[in-house]
Amino acid sequence: IFGDERQNSAGINIDIESEWVPFNAAVTAFNDHQWQAAPLVNGQAQAGDKHAITSPYDRRQAVGEVTFATAETVTTAIDNAHQAYASWSQTPVAERAACFTRLADLLEQNTGELVALCHREAGKTIQDGIDEIREAVDFCRFYAQQAATEFAQPHVVETFDGRTKQFTYQGRGVFACISPWNFPLAIFLGQVSAALVAGNTVVAKPAEQTSIIAFRAIEMMIEAGVPADAIQFVPGTGAVVGAALTADPRIAGVAFTGSTETAQRINRTLMNRDCEPVPFIAETGGQNAMIVDSTALPEQVVRDVVRSAFASAGQRCSALRVLFVQQDIADRIIGLIKGAMAELAVGNPHLHQTDVGPVIDAQAKEKLLTHIQALKNRAKLVAQADLPADCQHGDFVAPTAFEISGIDVLENEKFGPILHIVRFAADELDTVINQINQTGFGLTLGIHSRNERTYRYIEQRMRVGNCYINRDQVGAVVGVQPFGGQGLSGTGPKAGGPHYLYRFTQDVYSA
Ligand code: GLU
Repeated sequence: IFGDERQNSAGINIDIESEWVPFNAAVTAFNDHQWQAAPLVNGQAQAGDKHAITSPYDRRQAVGEVTFATAETVTTAIDNAHQAYASWSQTPVAERAACFTRLADLLEQNTGELVALCHREAGKTIQDGIDEIREAVDFCRFYAQQAATEFAQPHVVETFDGRTKQFTYQGRGVFACISPWNFPLAIFLGQVSAALVAGNTVVAKPAEQTSIIAFRAIEMMIEAGVPADAIQFVPGTGAVVGAALTADPRIAGVAFTGSTETAQRINRTLMNRDCEPVPFIAETGGQNAMIVDSTALPEQVVRDVVRSAFASAGQRCSALRVLFVQQDIADRIIGLIKGAMAELAVGNPHLHQTDVGPVIDAQAKEKLLTHIQALKNRAKLVAQADLPADCQHGDFVAPTAFEISGIDVLENEKFGPILHIVRFAADELDTVINQINQTGFGLTLGIHSRNERTYRYIEQRMRVGNCYINRDQVGAVVGVQPFGGQGLSGTGPKAGGPHYLYRFTQDVYSA
């Protein structure tokens, strides 16, 4: 359905000198740059209280300032988005889609600045920054192509009574898009581009920790041709901006990615509004497990465990939290994990060799350190990576692994570089499956086994959105691994999958 243009973004290979040198120059050109971000109402920056943004890897380094929106600004933004719906929803789909293919090109042209922002504002490593831009580009192109192909012409269907009818897909109105700091560009643009290309107007609230990168994305979106009144931008806190946005009766749908608790709060707010019920697309947390049986290849398991648990400092919803290893090979796997963790390079995310950068802020660090401290008293410490001395000015948490007695030891998601390991006996596989399902979360699951009957058995009994067999369990690729969970992990439809755009539309029939 996507024709010849169907292709994921290539990104940059930093191990090839001829790609790394110009790329690194483009990134380092923004080493000292100071950015200013503000709410954008009809493209106009709004005044207000300014907040200083500093770097997660070194709090002495200023990144710039962001002005947070007030509740009044949110209302004005919704007023304008509401008015803009009349003309944007009538703009031909091909024109809407063209804005997002142009935006994808602009993102690629500005990779240097955007990676610098990922690194300085969000603490991402170079590779994570590159992957972030690629995913954002992929979302823009994927939804643009899908909309242009599937929404442009009326669909003719034969009805049950043998006649024909036609229907079209239309937008629903003003969508609120509320996105997280862990994918400040990719998830932010994934939500916003889907909502807009489907014909809605948008009021977008980025995570307050990563407002600048979202602000630059909106500037580029307007440069790419999206009318400034169709996309309103309201950075700020959940308590002020998020609350004002979701309570407004003119919001015709919400796309949210973040914690399960916040999703539950938004859901309650939407239910309490005295107006029509609206779609709520939530992508939330996980308590992601990997099950490794005795037929697995230990070296491959350890490579995939280390990447799934510690890449992006464990700050992915998809990240591995609890590794279940069959007793027969547990000592060998744990020994190899210790060895691999001793090799992890933690530190300045801008250095080529860094594997693990900082966590997002002091609050996140505090929570994770409290958990590590608590487990040190009641679980077995397997390994803890070294933190170099120059990490003291940033919000770093050393990658840590514990052996615990069961997944029930963890009362909630630990969003950082902490791996928990549980041993199980050969006859306990069903117990393991039940324990994982009983958490109520269902985002990703990893399985390592060379026995097809075993991995199919597990896969068929798990209640998860994404099941990865004999590989790592992070880094879903747009259009290849549609991403999203079940139960406490989200509502679906999956981002980057064939059904996502439809939730932003309504189909209107004519006889
Ligand atoms: N899609 C990302 C992955 O597969 C995770 C998204 C998230 O953390 O919200 O790793």
